[in-house]
Amino acid sequence: MPRKILLIDDDRMQFRLTQAYVKSFQHDRYELEWAATYEDGIQKLMSGKYDACLLDYQLGDRDGLQLIRDAMSQGCRTPIVFLTAEKASRVDIAAMNAGALDYLVKGEFTARMMERSLRYALKLGETLEALRRMATRDQLTGLLNRREFERILIEEEERVRRFKHSLGLVMVDIDHFKRVNDTHGHMAGDVVLREVARRVAETVRTVDRAMRYGGEELALTLVQTDRAGALDLARRVCQAVAREPVLVSETLALNITVSAGAAAMPQDADSGPKLLNAADKALYAAKARGRNCAVGFSEI
Ligand code: GH3
Ligand code: MG
Ligand code: MG
Repeated sequence: MPRKILLIDDDRMQFRLTQAYVKSFQHDRYELEWAATYEDGIQKLMSGKYDACLLDYQLGDRDGLQLIRDAMSQGCRTPIVFLTAEKASRVDIAAMNAGALDYLVKGEFTARMMERSLRYALKLGETLEALRRMATRDQLTGLLNRREFERILIEEEERVRRFKHSLGLVMVDIDHFKRVNDTHGHMAGDVVLREVARRVAETVRTVDRAMRYGGEELALTLVQTDRAGALDLARRVCQAVAREPVLVSETLALNITVSAGAAAMPQDADSGPKLLNAADKALYAAKARGRNCAVGFSEI
């Protein structure tokens, strides 16, 4: 399937020209779509349906620079190639600083240059995405890593304060995991850990975040969730893990359980670190109560 390119430009002539260029590309096949206004452009760009975007500087009473900044603040990941007018060299730099991956100067570029620029932007976009993933995710489980989680926790803490929301936090720890490693080996332990992470992450909504906090300890942040909601989810996590054995290999299925501790902000704690601490205390209480169960901080 040809890759999809979005052109955002208020000039129909530019669309025609770009269309002709794209058709004449020597190696790469693309499908070109056009958005003629800022509003239509940003909406299409944020739909995530395009592999790359060609963006013009002039867009009615607003401009392409604004559009890049707007898109970036909304978490846009689509590679953008900026189209500038001949003499506006400072605009090129501003566009690159705002997040464009390359630029082309209108009236100067050829079809060949456009083909090269798009290929370059696509390649760089993929590389950035891979780097972003490595920086924010845990390799074994694919869950968020601790650094990213701590960043999110600060963000969520701010939201709790500003909008008077609540934030739930659940800490999860695999029961007697050392035994799994000791009896079946570290590789089997890794398989169990990956599967537990998958079951735990599946239990939460897409707005919620799952992280690998330490060795076999996972944490969940639950947006707009209070004490009761967090405890309810912690219970569901325990059930989701215990429901069926984990298949380690064709000949080995293990019954795995987890313990979970739940707490909520602002009910149980007035800061992110204190919230983590409260959920951790609740987790230890769950271990003390015999494991395979969930405990809320307010119950201990
Ligand atoms: P408890 O029910 O009290 O939590 O007992 P436990 O055995 O799970 O607790 P403990 O903290 O003593 O052991 C955790 C084990 O997790 C020890 C460590 O070897 C193992 N572990 C940590 N990270 C990994 C990993 O990435 N892969 C594997 N296979 N094991 C890991
Ligand atoms: Mg454990
Ligand atoms: Mg542990």
